[in-house]
Amino acid sequence: MTGAPPPPHDPPPHGHPADTVHTLAELDAAVTGCRACPRLVDWREEAARVKRRAYQDWEYWARPIPGFGPRDASLVLVGLAPAAHGANRTGRIFTGDPSGDLLYAALYDLGLASRPTAVSRDDGLELYGVRITDPVRCAPPDNKPSVSERDTCRPWLARELAFLRPTARAVVALGGFAWQALLPPLAAAGWELPRPRPVFGHGARVVLPALDGGPPLELFGCYHVSPRNTNTGRLTTAMLRELLADAAHAAGLPTREAAARSLS
Ligand code: SF4
Repeated sequence: MTGAPPPPHDPPPHGHPADTVHTLAELDAAVTGCRACPRLVDWREEAARVKRRAYQDWEYWARPIPGFGPRDASLVLVGLAPAAHGANRTGRIFTGDPSGDLLYAALYDLGLASRPTAVSRDDGLELYGVRITDPVRCAPPDNKPSVSERDTCRPWLARELAFLRPTARAVVALGGFAWQALLPPLAAAGWELPRPRPVFGHGARVVLPALDGGPPLELFGCYHVSPRNTNTGRLTTAMLRELLADAAHAAGLPTREAAARSLS
């Protein structure tokens, strides 16, 4: 068995902007300058001009949102797209909206985050072994990016996964959109997809072997942490915690739940 390949350091000289960076930190910086989707650029900037009444004092970020978490994360969470008055305002993924409130509280409960709330990008929040990212980096109208916008944004996610590949052992797709958006970049990064393609569902688990004989990746499906799902009870706090605990276990991350189990 061979180890996972090193991060990609030799990108083609005239490729997509995502392919011209050499580190994950460079990728995070480069994506914030992207203006490839005219409709989304208009929407993210319009939201920043109009603002929600409660946030009139905020200077909105109004740019693409990079991934958040350590560059050697073993667990990767993939959402949908930033919220117009959440991450598009604060500049950090899942920060400043109800979806993030639920997600970060669950990560904190498991010992994977330094604090249970996320209110601004300088609030001191740290993630432990976990990286969170989106397949579409700009806030879309009605939280619904088009298929072409998803595909236009794909190189950023593909490059991010390529950088994370040496350490990533589990990935959670938060919703069916994330699941579909993830499959091509996962294949491009060197993990083998089964045929027929795996179908999204809450609790779906698929082991993806590495094509080079390196460590496999376990793909998990989880309902998105949106208010639409949580307010209707489709996704409860207990369901989310249980799924994230399973994914953390698959990624080799210690959690408070595992520690409690070992003591009981
Ligand atoms: S959604 Fe992605 S590709 Fe489109 S403008 Fe934003 S960062 Fe660029």
